[in-house]
Amino acid sequence: MTPSPRADARSGQRIALAGIIASGCLAALNLTVGVMSRSTSVFATGVEFAGDVLASTVVFLGMVAAARPADDDHPYGHGRGR
Ligand SMILES: [Zn+2]
Repeated sequence: MTPSPRADARSGQRIALAGIIASGCLAALNLTVGVMSRSTSVFATGVEFAGDVLASTVVFLGMVAAARPADDDHPYGHGRGR
């Protein structure tokens, strides 16, 4: 049995959200430790994780937009992004 498109969209959103949370924690940790220890490389790792938060947020918003139900303008739903 294949998962329904709805369940598929929900699990995708959950994965993207988990990525945002994980990257956010790692960003906060690395930025804090980087500042406290004056370590440029640890701080830079924190900046990289902050970028991951931004990228995962864009993915998450795209998934939310794609999961919207069909309406008059988009009778086949919004999954194809048109
Ligand atoms: Zn629409």
